[in-house]
Formats: sequence, structure tokens, C-alpha cells
Amino acid sequence: MSVNYAAGLSPYPDKGRCGLPELFDSPEELNQKVDELADMVRKASNVVIHTGAGISTSCGIPDFRGPNGVWTLEEKGLNPKFDTTFETAHPSTTHMALLQLQRVGILKFLISQNVDGLHVRSGFPRDHLAELHGNMFVEECTKCGKQYVRDCVVGTMGLKPTGRFCDVPKVRGLRACRGKLVDTILDWEDSLPDKDLNLADEASRKADLAITLGTSLQIKPSGNLPLLTKRKGGKLVIINLQPTKHDRYADLRIHGYVDEVMTQLMHRLNIEIPVWTGPPTKLEPKDEVNNHHPIDCNGISDSSHIKKEERNPCIDEKPHLPKRAKVETACT
Ligand SMILES: [Zn+2]
Repeated sequence: MSVNYAAGLSPYPDKGRCGLPELFDSPEELNQKVDELADMVRKASNVVIHTGAGISTSCGIPDFRGPNGVWTLEEKGLNPKFDTTFETAHPSTTHMALLQLQRVGILKFLISQNVDGLHVRSGFPRDHLAELHGNMFVEECTKCGKQYVRDCVVGTMGLKPTGRFCDVPKVRGLRACRGKLVDTILDWEDSLPDKDLNLADEASRKADLAITLGTSLQIKPSGNLPLLTKRKGGKLVIINLQPTKHDRYADLRIHGYVDEVMTQLMHRLNIEIPVWTGPPTKLEPKDEVNNHHPIDCNGISDSSHIKKEERNPCIDEKPHLPKRAKVETACT
């Protein structure tokens, strides 16, 4: 599927401040700021990182509000250019650095607004990850809440039926659940997934260091979560080329490419960034299934990597939950 997933969303009038000029710290400034960041990471006991579309632009997936972002170009009546698909996009240096930071115990929780699935494809453990706006590769049962992580994008957006059905066996019966599967991609004003949002909220409150990477922090409630860390006495680091909505709250702001900043940070921390070798073969080690609904991906059917995850069977609509896309336009 084309990475222009935005074209599948409903029209929405206020998409926030788009196309703000990018800022670049000088090499000396960047050096000194990454020293400072490394020091903050070493001193922190609970690091939470928030990611936005800016970390996937080096993978060929456009962001939304950057100079060539989807919404920025839309305002000018132009269409974005794509040179990849979701299936062929590879995790970036930043995705792999985050994976390793989690593996060595520094990164306690990762909160992403990205729907490209690249954190999961990098091998990042899903129980340490909140995907607040959904994942193009995940579909979910409307009856029992079971999630299926596919090798290919599931084909619909806006929490719509994908045409497939749940094959989880009923507790005492022999028949499968057979609930309708729907995609997990939020349209404007859809409620955020309660489990992921609760985990993200809790992690943000517990953290003593929040780092944001490649997000202008304009979408609520996702963009406000780093402020919870700050409110609880923690520190906030914002790494983004453009100004963000919460710059004034940051203890440190770094204007540089995220891949470069993360490369330098990992070097300072003496941690090697692993090389991506392909989609993980075991996404959910404790809960493997045979998949009976292989998806045709550009003519290729392959269910060998398909796994599922347990989820609380709480799937009722929660109308009181915060909605996505309450955009605030003011950037500091
Ligand atoms: Zn089910």
C-alpha cells in the first residue's frame, strides 16, 4: 500500500501549524547538546521516549507538517512524493537505536504516534510500546479484542472491517471466535486505544526523563503526554528540526536530524546500534498461533511471521476517552 495513508482519512479543517522553517544547530552546538543529553540519560532512572513522523522520513515515509509534509503540501494544493511502501520501508538508525536502548534497560517505555509499524518491525517488544494512533499492520477482533500483527498492511483505515475473521478458539468450545477484524488506524476524532493510552499515561507519569523525537507535539492528547513527566518533576528533551508546541517547557532542545543525534548519543553511551536484518520472526514469543488468514501482499501470501498478542477483552467503546486530533496551532 502507498504510504500516503493520510489520503484515506476524512477531511479535517484544522491540521495545525505546517511548514514552519527547520532549524539546525551548528556542529559545535550539536556536539555540546548531545553531551548534555548523554549526561541526562546516564543520570535518569526511568527514560520514556515519544516518537512522531519525523523519525521515519529517512525511511522514505513523509511526515505531516515538515517543509515537504503531507499537510504542508496539501495546503499548497500539492501532492506528496513517495518512494517506498509500508511493506518495503525499513527501520531507521533511530528505530534500531531505540530498540537497543530498550534491550539494555535504559528505555523503559516507548510512545509513538506513528502508524507505519516500524517500531514493531524493528523488533521492539509490544508490551513496552504504545501505538496511540494505530498500526497499519495490525488488525483487531471486535468480539474478543485479540490483535493480529500481519506482514502486510491490513488494507483498511478508520477502524473499518478488513474482511477477515478472528480464529481464536472459544474457551470451552471447539468453534473459533469468528469476530469481525477491524484495522487499528484512527481517523480524525476517533478515540485513542484505551490500553495503549493508559500505559502511555502511566509511563509518562513515572518517567524522570522524557525525550521527544521527530514530533511537533501538536496533536492532543499524544503531544501533551511528555508534559506529565515534567509536571511530576522530571526533565524534558525535545529533538526536532522545527519548533514544537512545547519548546518552552524543554530542559534541552536539539535541532538536528534524529538519526544523527541518536548515532552520536549511542556513541557517547558506548552502545552499539544493531543492524536491521529483516522483520522479526517472533513478535510475541509467549503467544504463537498458526494463522489461517494469510494476506495477499503484492501477490505473496506468507503467514510465517504472523503472530498475535493478548489484549484485555475490554473492547467496549469508551466515548469519554480523549479523541485524537484536537490540534493546537500555537508553536512557541
Ligand atoms: Zn476474537
